[in-house]
Amino acid sequence: MPTVHVSLAHRSYDIAIGHGILAETSARCRGWCGLDEPGSVLVVTDSNLVDSHAATVADGFVSDGWLVGRHVLEPGEPSKSLEAARTMYDSLVELPADRGTLVVAVGGGVVGDAAGFVAATYARGIPLVGVPTTLLAQVDSSVGGKVAVNHPRAKNLIGAFHQPSGVLIDIGTLESLPERDYRSGLAEVIKYGVILDAEFFDYLEQNVEGLNGRDLDVLGHVVARSCELKAQIVEQDERETTGVRAVLNYGHTFAHAHEALAGYGELLHGEAVAIGMVQASRLAEKLGRIDALTTRRQVTLLEAVGLPVTAPRGPAADEIIDRMLLDKKTAGGRLKFVLPTRMGHVELVDEVDEALVRDVLA
Ligand code: NAD
Repeated sequence: MPTVHVSLAHRSYDIAIGHGILAETSARCRGWCGLDEPGSVLVVTDSNLVDSHAATVADGFVSDGWLVGRHVLEPGEPSKSLEAARTMYDSLVELPADRGTLVVAVGGGVVGDAAGFVAATYARGIPLVGVPTTLLAQVDSSVGGKVAVNHPRAKNLIGAFHQPSGVLIDIGTLESLPERDYRSGLAEVIKYGVILDAEFFDYLEQNVEGLNGRDLDVLGHVVARSCELKAQIVEQDERETTGVRAVLNYGHTFAHAHEALAGYGELLHGEAVAIGMVQASRLAEKLGRIDALTTRRQVTLLEAVGLPVTAPRGPAADEIIDRMLLDKKTAGGRLKFVLPTRMGHVELVDEVDEALVRDVLA
């Protein structure tokens, strides 16, 4: 199984990908953090994983002689809060932690973002290792160093860039992932094909059965290639300042609006992204940037892996557009979209005529 290297000068790190490698986390961490002796670690997880994947990781640290603290969050988005962060700071103080104490996040994007935020801020920053256990976290949120908690009025408003010392991905953890969360993660995988790699998109089309059956060979390739593609973007635009990283937001202008209007949790992020990708692709068609086949291929693949491709009934176009204008990808009241020019390539397009967006939403 491969290792993906994320090259960011002195913040570079490895993503180790394998099957049945959770118990190796402790040994990997010593290597990544350059420790001759076992150190101290806070293993953060949620209550769905505390007796399974997180126990394997924490027990590995205990048997290797680390000083181990365990912190269990409630599953779900509310744990990305300053209140939850405060309880993690308490656990670090009680350990007791020092500047070298490692935070290991075992879980999905919620655990990764919240524990990462704590690692970024405790004692002005302590080392972080990600052990992502959802497909979304393995192919997206654990790569790139974005960590955050939510403000009651805005998602991810309070955060930092804090690159991990390493990431360990055990694709075996995906076996226990609920179906809907698994399929939601596939939306981000398909997105990488559309925005960056036409060959990868072909591969996904040819391996629908393996994707639906969670075939380990297919998953190994899919997770590794997705991490490589995200790493390439992050390496060019670590802190989202040059615009390169914006390509990762393909489908997201529509998706964020649908997610917010449906009420967070109703539509999973990946489901909203699937709908948003199809709408963005239709918009690109209307602008004459791509042919109908490029959209049709996305619709067919998304449907084949059980993702929605049409928006839920309810909000009117006006409401959706107003919501999009609140999104961070609008500048000066103009709608901005990441749109394909062909399979495997997208561009950031501003000044899109609102009437065309209305057509797509109709
Ligand atoms: P999640 O973390 O809420 O996990 C989904 C559910 O799956 C939870 O109930 C969890 O307990 C359970 N679970 C996790 N792994 C499991 C496993 N192996 N077996 C069984 N159950 C398991 O959801 P998510 O989709 O992983 O993450 C969503 C979060 O990620 C959002 O808060 C989003 O903002 C964030 N995110 C961050 C970035 C980033 O760059 N930092 C990128 C994308 C998304």
